Amino acid sequence: LTSLLKDPSLLQTQAYIGGQWVDGDDGTFDVDNPARGDVIAKVADVSRLQVADAIAQAQIAQKEWAKWTGKERANVMRKWFDLMMANQDDLATIMTAEQGKPLAESKGEIAYGASFVEFFGEQAKRIYGETIPGHQRDKRIMVMKQPIGVAASITPWNFPNAMITRKAGPALAAGCAFVARPASETPLSALALAVLAERAGIPAGVFNVVPSNSASEVGKEFCENPIVRKLTFTGSTGVGRILLAQAADQVMKCSMELGGNAPFIVFDDADIDAAVEGAIMCKFRNNGQTCVCANRIYVQAGVYDEFAEKLRAKVAEMKVGDGLAGEVDLGPLITRKAIDKVQEHIADAKDKGAEVILGGEDHELGGNFLHPTIVKGATQDMKFSTEETFGPLAPLFKFETEDDVIEMANDTIFGLASYFYAKDLSRVYKVAEALEYGIVGVNTGIISTEVAPFGGVKQSGLGREGSHHGIEEYLEMKYVCLSV
Ligand code: ADP
Repeated sequence: LTSLLKDPSLLQTQAYIGGQWVDGDDGTFDVDNPARGDVIAKVADVSRLQVADAIAQAQIAQKEWAKWTGKERANVMRKWFDLMMANQDDLATIMTAEQGKPLAESKGEIAYGASFVEFFGEQAKRIYGETIPGHQRDKRIMVMKQPIGVAASITPWNFPNAMITRKAGPALAAGCAFVARPASETPLSALALAVLAERAGIPAGVFNVVPSNSASEVGKEFCENPIVRKLTFTGSTGVGRILLAQAADQVMKCSMELGGNAPFIVFDDADIDAAVEGAIMCKFRNNGQTCVCANRIYVQAGVYDEFAEKLRAKVAEMKVGDGLAGEVDLGPLITRKAIDKVQEHIADAKDKGAEVILGGEDHELGGNFLHPTIVKGATQDMKFSTEETFGPLAPLFKFETEDDVIEMANDTIFGLASYFYAKDLSRVYKVAEALEYGIVGVNTGIISTEVAPFGGVKQSGLGREGSHHGIEEYLEMKYVCLSV
């Protein structure tokens, strides 16, 4: 991997604690390339004591960092952003090597991830408080916003860069210090971010990375250590529940970006070609391994066969392969377990009467590779109706009326992203309002941007990331009542 990088020093395997690069007290763990199965790095496995040390260092650093003016914080964050963009190719290579997504997607993620550092750096200057007319003649009321303190994050492997910057960007802008525990599958992207944070002049202890192969130990330390005042997590609803329960002991402020089961609805009046394009981007980005990927595709009866055929023809052209070995549309899945889940969903659908119209069989490349798969005749009793597939399987459901599809779309514990294609304006309003989701894409399959509030309702999470709302998750409000 080093030989593929213009700047090999971006490939770090030690932990970054209090501005120091340190070995892990628990040795190392292997990081492998999911396309080839070979070990690409041995990364520091920190102990729980080292996590506590990172938290302590963060607390010391935070007190100074919070005194910086918004503009001063913005300036070093801008440098951090510039360095990410200047090293976009190398960061993307590291990401593809550990995560598997095609290089073009990795480059896209670096730009997307960096945008949160840019955007929130700018927001550091705009952490406005408020004055409120007093309730008595001698009273003056002021509301100030202050950083919550030390924030800790646990993030998944599907977006090794952006899931961290979405959290660290607003945290640092707010004046918090940050301790990141990256997914053990993809710690190298996080450590490369730390290399650049150091170069940008982010003060020692403000941004820490603690790789560990024992997520639950780190999670416990984050929740039980009284210094940590904010826990921010992206991952499954199951782990989110565990962390919320643990965080309850200290009444810790939590942001949770959890699972989704996104419906993607195509109405009779939709532009079918555009809907096919949107469905492909939405379903197959990152090989279906995003929490906003379409999990269920509902198509109105009048256009069902046309949509299915056009989708089949386009998806059949998608190229599967090693993201580092040339132009591919789909990389490998992250692990064998991920493959098993997709295959289980395909088998379950077949058992219950669905018809596979593309893919379904084992891939010639073996390993973690899978053919993109489309099934027709999907129904609400199939596994993908209640579980997130997290892979390249597109199930097509047929529906008759608007009311029917809204009921089916909302029939889930999840409420993150949803999508629909339609032209009729009153339908657009009605359906957008009726979908019980935190995000609705209308006539588009791509909704992620740093300028909009991303987050879910129901069991998809708590809080929002991105936009001017995102920084509030790292701020406390203080009401000052002055008697004059
Ligand atoms: P995914 O299927 O995307 O890996 P998970 O919710 O299993 O979703 O994992 C998300 C992140 O949470 C990963 O970094 C994982 O290591 C971590 N994790 C898993 N279990 C726990 C736990 N009990 N406590 C803290 N973190 C955990």
